[in-house]
Formats: sequence, C-alpha cells, structure tokens
Amino acid sequence: MTLPTDSDTIAAPATPPGSGGVAVVRVSGNAAAEIAAKVAGEIAPPRQASLRSFCDPEGCRIDQGLLIYFPGPASFTGEDVVEFHCHGGPVVVDLLLQTLLQTGARFAQPGEFSRRAFLNGRMDLTQVEAVADLIEAGSEQAARAAVRSMRGEFSSQVHILAEKLLELRVFVEAALDFPDEEIDFLADESVQRRCDALCADVDKLAATARQGTLLRDGISVVLAGPPNAGKSSLLNRLTGQETAIVTHLPGTTRDVLREHISIDGMPLHVIDTAGLRGEADLVEAEGIRRARREIDNADRVLLVVDASAPSADEVGADPMVDLPDGLACTIVRNKIDLTGEPPGIVRDQDGVTVMAISALTGSGLEDLRAHLSRVVGYEPHAGAYLSARTRHIDALRQAGLSLKEAQSRLAGGHSPEIVAEELRLANQSLGEITGEISSEDMLGRIFSSFCIGK
Ligand code: GDP
Repeated sequence: MTLPTDSDTIAAPATPPGSGGVAVVRVSGNAAAEIAAKVAGEIAPPRQASLRSFCDPEGCRIDQGLLIYFPGPASFTGEDVVEFHCHGGPVVVDLLLQTLLQTGARFAQPGEFSRRAFLNGRMDLTQVEAVADLIEAGSEQAARAAVRSMRGEFSSQVHILAEKLLELRVFVEAALDFPDEEIDFLADESVQRRCDALCADVDKLAATARQGTLLRDGISVVLAGPPNAGKSSLLNRLTGQETAIVTHLPGTTRDVLREHISIDGMPLHVIDTAGLRGEADLVEAEGIRRARREIDNADRVLLVVDASAPSADEVGADPMVDLPDGLACTIVRNKIDLTGEPPGIVRDQDGVTVMAISALTGSGLEDLRAHLSRVVGYEPHAGAYLSARTRHIDALRQAGLSLKEAQSRLAGGHSPEIVAEELRLANQSLGEITGEISSEDMLGRIFSSFCIGK
C-alpha cells in the first residue's frame, strides 16, 4: 500500500453533506487540470466559469455544471485547483467524487487543503486556523474576529513582537561575539528597557488572544444544586426555550441537558444536571454521577438554591452538594419573587459570589449574565477582537516566561550566553504561533481537527 503524500492530487466535497441547490467538489494538485479534462472535456481559461458535462470513465453523463480552473500558485492551496460545481444531491456528489478518484485523484484527508495552503506559503498557521474559525463561528463577533485573523492581523502583531525580539537578540549576541569590548553591552540600560517593553507587549497580545479564545470556544457553565431549586427553570430562562422539564417533583432531570447560547457574542454552553441528593433510584444516581463529572470540567458552576427554603443558607453543609475545593462557583439564590429580596449581587468577597434571581420572573438575570462575562474576563465592548486558540495563548505565555527569565538574568548580571538562550526560546515560541517553527506532530494535531474538504 502506498502512503498518502503531499504530491498526490486530492479531491473532496467543499460543501457540507446533504441536499442543496449546488455542491462544490474541489480537486488540488499537479494532475488537477488533466483529471478535470478527462471528466469535463476542454478547460476554460483560468478563473472563468464554464458550463460542462461531467462524465464517468465509461463516458456516461453524471451531471452538468460549472467548472473553474485556478492554476497554481494563485489558488487557495498554491497548487493547480479545479472546482466542480454540480447539483447538490448526495448521490450526484458521490458519483462525481468516485469518478475523480478513478481518474487519478486521492480522497483528501481532514484539513488537507488548508495544510497545503500553509505548506505552500499561501497562509501562515494562524490564518488557516482563522479560516476554520470563520466557518465555525457561533456569533457575529466571532466571525468578525476570525476575518481579522484570517487577513493576517494577529500574525502581523506576532511579527512585530518577533522583530523587536530579533533586535534585542542582535544586541545580546554582539556581547557574545565581542567579549573583550570595553563597552559592557548587557549593562546598557536600553537592553533592560527593551526587554521590559517586550514582556509587556507579549502580555498585552496574550490578553487580546484570550478574548479571541473566549469568543471562539466560550465557557461551560454547569447548573448544579439540590432538586427543585429551579435549575431547569433557570436553563429555560437563559435559553428562552422550554428545553428542560420543569415540575414541582424532585428528581425530574435525570440526565445532562446541554444548551448553547451566547452573551454578547461569547458562546455559553449551559449544562443542566440532575439535582444532587442522597435518596435517588438507579437512573437518578447515574444522573448524579454524570452531574459530578460535568461539575469537575466546568469553567463555572452555578450552585442554584431555593432562597425561600429554610435550608437555603446551609446548602454548603449538605454532604450531597459538597463540591470540589477550588471550584469556580457562584451561589445563585433563586425564587426571590417569594422572599422579596432585591435582585443582583448579594455578596462578592473572598472569591465567593452570591447572587439573587428569580427564574420565574427573570429578575436578576441580566446581572447574572454580566457576572459570568466578568468572572471569565470577557470584555464585550473591547472592539477589534482577533480570533485565537488556546495553543496561541500557551505559546505567548511560554514566550513571556522565557523573556521574564532573560529579564531576571540580565538584572542578575548573568553571562550573555544564558540571556541569549532565553531569548532564542522566546523566539521559538513566537514562531510556533504563525508556524514558522513547526513539527509534523504539531501540524498533524492542528489539521486533523479540521473537516474533510477544508
Ligand atoms: P430543578 O429540579 O432544580 O430543575 O427545579 P425546577 O426548575 O424543575 O423547578 C422546581 C419548581 O420550582 C417548579 O415548580 C418551578 O416552577 C418552581 N420555580 C423555579 N424557579 C422559580 C422561581 O424563581 N420562583 C418561583 N416562585 N418558583 C420557581
């Protein structure tokens, strides 16, 4: 068996499965034009649509549609690309694809078109990731952020940092090259100053990237607490739908319910769980087990309690409600329409926030949404977001750590070799963001999360 290589000509549907007016099948590689000529006859001049009959190897007509030829390197992948626009039925798409495979193409792997665009220098890594983010954007803000990153705004900010870092390295490495020079390069205050400024710039970009990941990935919020506290009512109120069954009977929610909403563009994955209580049958006990698993993985847990119940203030003492230490948790006193408490934040100190709401009337819900944005550091009106991923933040953090290490080595009067090495490591971390420095393993991880046809 021959292994797939980057020199194969690949084919895959570029449009999603299912029925639609039109579907696009994309072919990329050296043999794209030759394959297209076999299937569709003569090819029109580059970048012009021409109406063609698409025929299988026996000459049997499969469909009639548009053909567009994009010769490399001015194509999405940088290679010769042909797009077949056929009718959007799954059988038509499949017949066309089978024909292309019989004519010399190989079925593309997930993300292989984007991978080639990257390898051929059409886009850097943050840009191809932004294309995927744009396709998957869950809100208008997320889409706009993805377009900015796709157009290279994030990469250019990384390049500016890398440029400044390079200047600093030149300075430090001069100290290595001329050890006998009178001037002590590293004692020069401007080196310290540049290093400090660079640290601050890296931190600033990491904060911007963090906003981007919040916009892209959002946060998961688990509704937990004793039965009948109003968790399902709160889920329904937050989503504006009757997703969860609400009854006065304890133990109605036995499985985990998930809903996806957004707060000012940030996706919020709300998870309603079985009430945590001791006396549960087999099914409910499994629900409670699942609830605990969701709690462990949540970005924030809303511990909902019935403010009108006599036990409301002792919820933390209930062994069934016992939550893991260090959990990011907000206590939500629900049903304040029965108690007459004012809505909003009741207490916010020592890392514990208590809020008062009514899932029935909706009072306090706006405060709760604002609280959730605030606790994860989302700035809804910060303006020009850039889409970013956790791996970008990790790399920026790593660059920041190396720079801080260099900073303290400089201040401690250490040898230039050590300072130079830390700066080299910082440079490497920045290079990983845009893909100037990449490994097969890293590319495999990134592109395998893409869909087929991307
Ligand atoms: P869960 O078991 O925690 O999911 O609780 P439910 O959402 O099923 O609610 C239990 C009962 O409390 C139902 O009868 C709801 O109508 C009622 N309930 C929920 N929220 C409120 C509220 O804010 N005010 C009042 N008065 N009743 C509520």
